[in-house]
Amino acid sequence: MAARTLSARRRVSDASDRSGTGSSVVSISAVHKVFSDGDQRTVALEGIDLDIARGAFVSLIGPSGCGKSTLLRLIGDLTQATTGTITVNGKTAHLARLARDYGIVFQAPVLFDWRTVERNVELPLELERLPQAERQRRASEMLALMELGGFERHYPWQLSGGMQQRVAIARALSFEPALLLMDEPFGALDEMSRERLNLELLRIWQKTGTTVVFVTHSIPEAVFLSTEVVVMSRRPGRIVDIIKVDLAQPRNDLTREDPRYFELVTRVRETLRRRDTPQTTDST
Ligand code: ADP
Repeated sequence: MAARTLSARRRVSDASDRSGTGSSVVSISAVHKVFSDGDQRTVALEGIDLDIARGAFVSLIGPSGCGKSTLLRLIGDLTQATTGTITVNGKTAHLARLARDYGIVFQAPVLFDWRTVERNVELPLELERLPQAERQRRASEMLALMELGGFERHYPWQLSGGMQQRVAIARALSFEPALLLMDEPFGALDEMSRERLNLELLRIWQKTGTTVVFVTHSIPEAVFLSTEVVVMSRRPGRIVDIIKVDLAQPRNDLTREDPRYFELVTRVRETLRRRDTPQTTDST
């Protein structure tokens, strides 16, 4: 897809084929975000229009500071748009958060060291006052999904970084959210752990049918995981292109050797370079 007028409505759509619904989980319209701090005014995002269809796996990629995390945080109601509207499952982002329509995973797993793995996953369910049996059932189901069966009674400090992040993902999934928001969740991990978790995440995405919005600074990771890669310009962040990733599903280790995979990685890289010369991107 060539770069289109920035005001054009952008629809991330292909995964709607999987669910057959075609409805948008996220709808962003004319969003601007300005941070004001005393005299300082930072225009972080400008003119963002984006629809994300149910079942899509969408990565946000762009130069450091272009507003990827801000956009994710706006969807997650962790910050508010200066102007423009955002709906999640047809509600405001705020109401969607109250309705637990999404789970969020950050780069650091944010686990409580004094709680076992199982009780970390149960925490949001406790806050919702779900009965104990139901909490345990869901926690054990999600931990099994993340291949952490047998580690329920361990404490976070007894696990590797990759395992801790899997616990955080299990916790985010415990509500069976329609939407999973992930902000560089594997950024702190070594390459091997990251590749393994990429595969696990795809397996879960396929199994649960959840929609994923994923922030990364790694072009190969974005291409490997996504149904669409949203390419953003340097600050103020705008969407400059949405690249559809037409690699076969399910993806596996062979995907990384597919010539089409290399073509798409090159295409994303060139789009970033074209839009951001002379600034360097934080691509890997
Ligand atoms: P990215 O995730 O693409 O690296 P961010 O969304 O974190 O970028 O930040 C976009 C811009 O907004 C940056 O210039 C950053 O300094 C600024 N910014 C982010 N959060 C705040 C904040 N709470 N207050 C002021 N400026 C912020």
